[in-house]
Amino acid sequence: MRTSQNLLNTVKEIPADAVVISHQLMIRAGLIRKLAAGLYTWLPLGLRVLRKVEAIVREEMDRAGALEVLMPALQPAELWQETGRWEKYGPELARLKDRHDRDFCLGPTHEEIITDLARNEIKSYKQLPITYYQIQTKFRDEIRPRFGVMRCREFIMKDAYSFHLSQESLQETYDLMHQAYTTIFTRFGLKFRAVIADSGSIGGAVSHEFHVLAESGEDAIAFSDGSDYAANIEKAEVVMPKGSRAKAGVELKKVSTPSQHSIEDVSQFFNAPVQQCLKTLVVKGDDGSLVALLLRGDHVLNPIKAEKIEGVAVPLTFASDAEIIQSCHCKPGSIGPINLNIKIIADRSVTLMSDFVCGANEDGQHFTGVNWERDLSLPNHIEDIRTVVEGDISPDGQGQLHIARGIEVGHIFQLGTKYSESMKAGIINEDGKNQTMIMGCYGIGISRVVASAIEQNHDARGIIWPVSLAPFQVAICPMNLHKSERLKLAAEKLYQDLLKAGIEVLFDDRKVRAGFMFSDMELIGIPHCIVISDRGLEAGMVEYKSRTSEQNEEIPLEGILAFLQ
Ligand code: ATP
Ligand code: MG
Ligand code: MG
Ligand code: MG
Repeated sequence: MRTSQNLLNTVKEIPADAVVISHQLMIRAGLIRKLAAGLYTWLPLGLRVLRKVEAIVREEMDRAGALEVLMPALQPAELWQETGRWEKYGPELARLKDRHDRDFCLGPTHEEIITDLARNEIKSYKQLPITYYQIQTKFRDEIRPRFGVMRCREFIMKDAYSFHLSQESLQETYDLMHQAYTTIFTRFGLKFRAVIADSGSIGGAVSHEFHVLAESGEDAIAFSDGSDYAANIEKAEVVMPKGSRAKAGVELKKVSTPSQHSIEDVSQFFNAPVQQCLKTLVVKGDDGSLVALLLRGDHVLNPIKAEKIEGVAVPLTFASDAEIIQSCHCKPGSIGPINLNIKIIADRSVTLMSDFVCGANEDGQHFTGVNWERDLSLPNHIEDIRTVVEGDISPDGQGQLHIARGIEVGHIFQLGTKYSESMKAGIINEDGKNQTMIMGCYGIGISRVVASAIEQNHDARGIIWPVSLAPFQVAICPMNLHKSERLKLAAEKLYQDLLKAGIEVLFDDRKVRAGFMFSDMELIGIPHCIVISDRGLEAGMVEYKSRTSEQNEEIPLEGILAFLQ
């Protein structure tokens, strides 16, 4: 394509709401434009990248034997009522009514719809196992849409669903999908990790997330240096090393999540001003767990998902890594601790120290004398206490755990019969008996992959696309194209030759200065750039610039095609 066809929409200004680099660069490079909070238009250049992601996902899903379908985004409430999720899903579900006053929602996910399809369509056990997938628009009315297309309200997801007669068959497909995901993220050219995950509101027992590793990631993941063990911290188990200071009279089995939430997030949840939330500890006993929440700088080290927090914000001041013993009080009737003593033992961990009384989730029900240092019998719903920290021993006993940050780009689940049972998706099995189908589901955030690729691959000048996701592989940058007929002909011929060779090439035929051209090409992240000038042509040479190297190379014009291939 030619830049003169108005393909580029690069801009200098960074919008105030763009706090992460991928969001800033996607706006500056002209990949997306904001319509409203969490709603974005994909411009031509951005759409090319999105389509690349889709194409790789589609190829690998097809290769894994999944069948592509396309389900409606608009979904009748009845199906959601069958599974009980119409009530349970909460405000993230975008609900609406049609002209006859019937309830509908815009699908945040498609378990109900696919299960309805399967119960009608799958007639014989001989059709199983079967996997359907789609690449389609999802709607989630996120409490705080942010980071551009990373967390938006309308986004593209690949979602796949499998149906089985036996757990063994589900495991087989699950493993196949796990492998397909590994191939997909490898083909993207991204550094990633598969981790054990919590299955959240989708449900099911076994679940893995795929994370693109990036400092700005909202999730923290723990992985072992001595084995394959890797888990989202909200799911990671901690084994207390012998002699550790945090060793208490209790076995601390489950651990919590230092997932990152912004101060604004928390302030919104607690309906408190930002200043008040800064360096605040919030503790809450929610249906089952006692939770400590610590804010430092602009990060919240938070043992649970922010959505679940309701409690009291307790103003405290402390220095990082200091030993802090403080008392705090909760409002009458609210959930929270009274007299809580806290000790920060490392950057990411909070230990509850001596005697405290904690509030419970029922009025007037308090636990007294809870003490982590001595023997105590814990009320069994209080267990989420300790965050995995750098250097903890891996639960498999092999190696030490390290903490990295990640962006969740894929999530696979073994659903079991959660949906098929409530929706009566059964089948007559080989023995002539009716049997509920067993299900798996497998998502990839197509739009989020684009942002996470940038988050992982950029420099001060702009995006550095992995070749497989680049909107164009090669850019042709002619110097003073409009001043030389010979250059015009040579550049045009080179463009045509590259096109014929099947290379995706962007011909910068604008009347702009060389510096302007280069900075645009660097900003939009084209991996290879060929600079062609009148002077070079005299010697039969062109200049080659790689996006990842400072050094330019002189290449004979004749050999450039072979060089690029
Ligand atoms: P998150 O924890 O980031 O809210 P999720 O666990 O709610 O994500 P899933 O239900 O597992 O998301 O959906 C599958 C995939 O869809 C996610 O792994 C993610 O890549 C993508 N995704 C989820 N929510 C959004 C969103 N609001 N904007 C863009 N992509 C999203
Ligand atoms: Mg979510
Ligand atoms: Mg998640
Ligand atoms: Mg998820």
